Amino acid sequence: MNSIPELYHFTCDHGHVGIARTGILLPNIHPFMKNLGPLLWLTDLAEPPSKESVGLTSIWTTCDRLAYRYIVHSKAAVHWFDVRQRAPKEIVETLESYGQPEHWWIVRRPLTPSEFSFDDGWKHNESATDTTASRRAGSDGESG
Ligand SMILES: [Zn+2]
Repeated sequence: MNSIPELYHFTCDHGHVGIARTGILLPNIHPFMKNLGPLLWLTDLAEPPSKESVGLTSIWTTCDRLAYRYIVHSKAAVHWFDVRQRAPKEIVETLESYGQPEHWWIVRRPLTPSEFSFDDGWKHNESATDTTASRRAGSDGESG
């Protein structure tokens, strides 16, 4: 199967700054799936109905993980279903229960500039999110 659809990588302000600075898309170790090595999460959903649908929940961070969109064309992309059996079963179940894993893709190495482009036409409207205004007083203020 060599048909990889157009893929998208969504990220927050912090991720966007890092990408702009380094010029590469970097995979990250998932804290509960370390054995898979660094993973860069992609989706074939151009406009995810929610961050949960693409697995970008805010459990660990309050960032808007859909703030920026990158378009990815990489032969290194593999479907999540080709990898999931190597991740801890209970983690997979939790992760997939949030979203639409059939739309999840991953790359397990950094993406070079020829493989992705910043999509400045994307604008995420987070008005649907009800907790945006609730800046937690007393939080440590650290970004995730
Ligand atoms: Zn962030």
